[in-house]
Amino acid sequence: MKYIETYKEVKIVKPDGIRNKLRKYALDSLCLLEKINGIQHELNRPRIQFLYIHHVFKDEEIAFDRLLKKLSLNHEFLSYSESVAKIQEGKIDKPYICISSDDGFKNNIKAAEILNDYNAKACFFINPFIVGNTSFHEIEKHCKNRLNFPPVEFMNWDDIEKIQKMGHEIGSHTMEHINVSITEKNIFIDDCNKTFEILTKQCGEAKHFAFPYGRFFHFNEIGLEIVFKSGFISCATAERGCHINHDRLLQKEELYIRRDQIILDWNIDHIFHFLANSSKSANITNNLFKKNN
Ligand SMILES: [Zn+2]
Repeated sequence: MKYIETYKEVKIVKPDGIRNKLRKYALDSLCLLEKINGIQHELNRPRIQFLYIHHVFKDEEIAFDRLLKKLSLNHEFLSYSESVAKIQEGKIDKPYICISSDDGFKNNIKAAEILNDYNAKACFFINPFIVGNTSFHEIEKHCKNRLNFPPVEFMNWDDIEKIQKMGHEIGSHTMEHINVSITEKNIFIDDCNKTFEILTKQCGEAKHFAFPYGRFFHFNEIGLEIVFKSGFISCATAERGCHINHDRLLQKEELYIRRDQIILDWNIDHIFHFLANSSKSANITNNLFKKNN
């Protein structure tokens, strides 16, 4: 009955497979090429790049600080609400980064503190079902079944209030971290209304939604409609890509946010390689809902 506290422990339970190892070698050589040719041009492009994390374990704090420091050289940090508004209004005038974090682990408090050192305000997407739950058994089950993760401690409502007071936003990640694409329409309607109500009551407001698992095929058009009907003003995926100015104003229901995942254990050059790639392939169609493919 012990919660894990380091990423090292996660890696013991979930070691890198051969494919991942080979991928890392391939990325190493790509990054070497990029060091020669440079990726500054890509990084200086006016755009909004959403990055999302899940955890900043004790042994990841230095890497998080280092990443934010390096990002701050080329980018300005924007809050989630500011980012959403800027894309809708077509006011992206320089390179911006917007950070979010999914699942609401306890170590997100430390993430919020490190973010504040850089005056970066993030959005934390949480599952109200697990907030304040003290049953190790239920937490272990939630981590295993919903997150494919060893048992880790979650934030309670006091923690959430604390990070809000630090200037960060709280968003919905559904009640219990469900796969929306296999959830009945009525159940998802109830889920959205309930999470919107709970978060509004507990946090004062709840504007943003990010669906669990995050790939296009984990969501659909009906889900999108439900999210906005329940009161949220944005919907995020976990598909790679960034946002540039559209050729017209966007209604809130049209914008479909893309976010690049970051694991702090990754080589920082690899992370910047992904950022440069997202920037290079930025396109206005990235701003819109894409049918499952
Ligand atoms: Zn999640």
